[in-house]
Amino acid sequence: MVNDVVPGLVQQIRTFGTCDANACLSCGSCTVVCNLSNGLTTFPRKPLRRALLGLKGSLLAGLEPWLCHDCGDCSLACPRHAEPHESMMTLRRYLVAQYDFTGIASKVLGSKIGEIVALSLVSLLVFGLALWYHLYYVELALGDLVTTAMGMEHMFPLIEYFTYAAFAIPALIVFVNIARMHRFTMGKHLRFPVPLRYYFTEAKTLFFHMVSHKNMKKCKEPTHRRRWIKHWLLALAVTVKCAIILFFLSWFQTDGIYPIYDPQRWVGYLIAIALIVVPVDILISRWRHREKVHTFSEPGDLILPIMFILTAVSGLVVHGGRYLGFEWTGHIAYAVHLAVAVPLIMIELPFGKWSHSFYRPLALYFAAVKERALRDANVPTMVGPEQETVPLETHPA
Ligand code: SF4
Ligand code: SF4
Repeated sequence: MVNDVVPGLVQQIRTFGTCDANACLSCGSCTVVCNLSNGLTTFPRKPLRRALLGLKGSLLAGLEPWLCHDCGDCSLACPRHAEPHESMMTLRRYLVAQYDFTGIASKVLGSKIGEIVALSLVSLLVFGLALWYHLYYVELALGDLVTTAMGMEHMFPLIEYFTYAAFAIPALIVFVNIARMHRFTMGKHLRFPVPLRYYFTEAKTLFFHMVSHKNMKKCKEPTHRRRWIKHWLLALAVTVKCAIILFFLSWFQTDGIYPIYDPQRWVGYLIAIALIVVPVDILISRWRHREKVHTFSEPGDLILPIMFILTAVSGLVVHGGRYLGFEWTGHIAYAVHLAVAVPLIMIELPFGKWSHSFYRPLALYFAAVKERALRDANVPTMVGPEQETVPLETHPA
């Protein structure tokens, strides 16, 4: 990768949040406290220096912002209040925007207005499709549309195709963006190609981190361990929900009435509880500790938990409407539910904060592959007076 100096790189990065790299004196206090610094790399100074020097190629090639587990210790230790922890969060948003070939992530992550506009446009599209379906496909008169109580099963066959499309489009974008992430971080700029077999031998790392989110447990404070449990529960609920929607939609989404002990009901309740309780807890803890570095976040990071809550609540209203006999309420709530859930999948997953759920484990996987190749090839790694190491890269910052 060409490592041309990009003037004003820090200013570009700042459109994604706080990045006070200019305030950094390179004193090393943050590196001392960060438990990721191990002599092989100097967290979090290295990516900050790359940003400051305008070394965009090196910045894109680095995986450090993804390995950071957000403990915030570096910001507490910084005598210049350069907020290295915040800068790492901003760098992650910048990297997501660079990986994305459509340019939409840059609009979504670079501006809260852009994110809200993108989500609103998809919501309007969903409402438009619902209107088209009822007026032209079912041939319902406009007057009847707002007064007629209908069951929902009549639309389920079409909804299945719509659901597959709603997942397939972002999945395709995600695959292309992951390929770009791989090219940036594992491409030709490495000293030699990493043998393919290392991708297989380290595949367990990807699976392990995707399932366990173990990196978050590296923070020793009890509050951070609770944060890990909350995120793990949320990820589990979201994964199960997506799997049900993709593979068992006709079982889960039906006008049928089931007893309370039927899995169709209690699985749905458990998912809804997790999708409400955990995001509410995240919002409360962020609100209460706004001024503390450990829990501070960009206002835009609040949109994802709010979207999860709205998806679960609207789903429960649909369910309640069906079981209590309020068909009209359930019908309208179903349109609202789709208008929230579809933008969540089509915008937040490929372009927004949700994309971190796959970029983080992938970065840990790529880092493990690099390390393995480095170790087995016995590549000399010490470069520069700081004995700073950039595994297999040709252009250390
Ligand atoms: S502690 Fe602050 S000033 Fe010192 S190297 Fe880290 S970011 Fe820079
Ligand atoms: S937030 Fe924690 S893990 Fe991340 S760079 Fe700072 S000290 Fe290291």
